[in-house]
Amino acid sequence: MSETRTPPRHVEMSQFPHEGGELLVGGIPLSRLAARVGQTPFYAYDRGLLAARVDTLRSTLPAGIQLHYAMKANPMPALVSFMARLVDGLDVASGRELRVALDTGMDPSEISFAGPGKSLAELEQAVASNVLLNIESAREARLLSDIGERTGWVARVAVRVNPDFELKSSGMKMGGGPKQFGVDAESVPALLAEIGQLGLQFEGFHLYAGSQNLRAESIVEAQRKSFELCVRLAESAPSEVKSFNLGGGFGIPYFPGEGHLDLAPVADNLAQLQQEAAGKAPGAHLVIELGRYLVGEAGVYVARVVERKLSRGHVYLVTDGGMHHHLAASGNFGQVIRKNYPVAIGNRMRAGETENVSVVGPLCTPLDLLADKMDLPPAQEGDLVVVFQSGAYGFTASPRDFLSHPQPLEVLV
Ligand SMILES: *Cc1c(COP(=O)(O)O)cnc(C)c1O
Repeated sequence: MSETRTPPRHVEMSQFPHEGGELLVGGIPLSRLAARVGQTPFYAYDRGLLAARVDTLRSTLPAGIQLHYAMKANPMPALVSFMARLVDGLDVASGRELRVALDTGMDPSEISFAGPGKSLAELEQAVASNVLLNIESAREARLLSDIGERTGWVARVAVRVNPDFELKSSGMKMGGGPKQFGVDAESVPALLAEIGQLGLQFEGFHLYAGSQNLRAESIVEAQRKSFELCVRLAESAPSEVKSFNLGGGFGIPYFPGEGHLDLAPVADNLAQLQQEAAGKAPGAHLVIELGRYLVGEAGVYVARVVERKLSRGHVYLVTDGGMHHHLAASGNFGQVIRKNYPVAIGNRMRAGETENVSVVGPLCTPLDLLADKMDLPPAQEGDLVVVFQSGAYGFTASPRDFLSHPQPLEVLV
């Protein structure tokens, strides 16, 4: 007897409703939004969805957990300003991100700066701004001390720790084993002693084990281990520990068969850790920093069909956008096996007949693929292709000058 199996489907992109066959982004029918933007391709980020995601986290996670936005997921200034009003802090990863963060009006004491190889100019910028520096080496500590001697400005520092464990089933591992990130856990006590001698203001620890994790139990495990490591290291701290930044790595569903992260166990675990912190490290609050999870599902990338092309029986929808605008959707941003992002024809949202097509861009490379052999409603030239889950690691994570085509725009609606 043969077993019939339906192939896994994309999780429903129900965060964006549709009306009269048109996808609504920020409540605006897509064709009208495209006219309002004034060109395709573009990225559009939906304020209502951004706010709803923060609301969900606030109502699920225990009160007192500090929620930070990690800006590298999407550093569009208007979006960062919007997020700054909703979250407790911003995490930056470069001098330029720091300037955008400061422009939002966020209190500098709630901004932190992480990243390996910070330049002297960046360190100086951060000290002058009075933001928290997550230092990743003894070199950074020494440079900060030099800056202090020269200017009289005392650097606020936390130590980013490269843990002695890995985050399981995370899309991108950023801790455990040899890494360019953070200070190896076993070297931290010596660095803490040096920080004390250098006259820096020590405030806490920062751990970030990895990104794009959809399994609650592995996030729970990583956060518990991170917390325990923080508690252990706190014994060597030169002064009272004010913050344990336990990272994040919360994932969102991109591919067929993936579902939403179950927040409930993560929330239960954080409540437990918070209780333990009150006993073991009074004065330390818990921070989580999220990028993708806060903004990824609130964004779409929109390109227009320039040509409907038939090649030996297969339909290609050639669009005015592609991998140069959205590297991740093309499968070239860290994916091992290429899979399709969820895609729709945004002006043909009514259920009906479909055809199997590939959506490509205008670049002279077969890598320029937005959807490979996907079932979509029959599309015509002028139609709008939508790539969902595009609010994070899209615009700024793409090689936009590759082949010198026009740039996409970004709007917040
Ligand atoms: C990239 C990064 C983040 C954000 O990761 P997401 O997977 O987008 O949530 C947070 N913290 C640090 C240190 C990072 O490098």
